[in-house]
Amino acid sequence: MVKERKLNVKNIVKLVIIVVLLIVVIVSINIIRYKNSDKYKLKEIGYNKEQIEDILKLDKEYRKKILSMDYNEFLLDLMKEKYFLFENVDRYLEYHKKDENETAKNVVAITNVESDYDHYTNTKETDTSKDILMLVNKYNYLSKDFVPQNIVEVKNWYCYGNASLREDAYDAFIEMFNAAKKDDVTLIINSGYRDYQDQDDTYQEFYDIYGKNEVDKLAAKPGYSEHQTGLSMDITSYDETADTDFEDTEEFKWLQQNAYKYGFILRYPKGKEKITGYAYEAWHYRYVGLEAASKINELDITFDEYYEYFVK
Ligand SMILES: [Zn+2]
Repeated sequence: MVKERKLNVKNIVKLVIIVVLLIVVIVSINIIRYKNSDKYKLKEIGYNKEQIEDILKLDKEYRKKILSMDYNEFLLDLMKEKYFLFENVDRYLEYHKKDENETAKNVVAITNVESDYDHYTNTKETDTSKDILMLVNKYNYLSKDFVPQNIVEVKNWYCYGNASLREDAYDAFIEMFNAAKKDDVTLIINSGYRDYQDQDDTYQEFYDIYGKNEVDKLAAKPGYSEHQTGLSMDITSYDETADTDFEDTEEFKWLQQNAYKYGFILRYPKGKEKITGYAYEAWHYRYVGLEAASKINELDITFDEYYEYFVK
């Protein structure tokens, strides 16, 4: 009997040792596993609980990128943006270094449309087969020989001096003009189609007056003006005088509410200067057709972005 009890005690001790060892092994494995987890590594880099939760919801390649870098709050903001493109991530960060106060949303937009490059660098001839959706900006140009088809004279009734436009843009303008008139608003075209030579002359004129350093802020280089498409127009009103801005007129307010319904967009909006590459121009409208204009209005994006995401 005594012997048996001894054996039992021995067995119990053995069992306890085995159990303890097992617990130690399991705990160790878990610690190793935890230390190898993204969660632990992110904590080590310096991210807080909330940020880690957000990061763990991201795609694997996004997580990998974050793990390969020092703590970077801006990178998280970027990755939450609707139009964030992983292939552009290094360019976003590069741009952010140059322009630290710009929002993640704008940095994504600026880079996606390649406006992170200096103006008139990385240029290419634009694809004119996109027709009413062709993109002309400081990186996409029209050749010297490009002349749009169906350019028609604008009747005096609708413009100051002489102007011409592509027929489809002109027809849409007349429809818009008539609708505005019903609201006692009169839209007048100040400038429409300008050919390569016109733009070359304008550019030279500004060059001679203001010099090499100022000219690019004031006039588009020949081939880079949207007016060469025949789809752009500068609009003015009776109310606009030398002392007032078009922005303050009833016509501008009406266009803000209604232009997209006729296929027109404000091409160089306020606050989007770094995306479009142009200073705010309350008077410059571009015909892009109903579908594009509605979408641009709905998403509150520039034409440059629209082209990148939906046309290219
Ligand atoms: Zn213009």
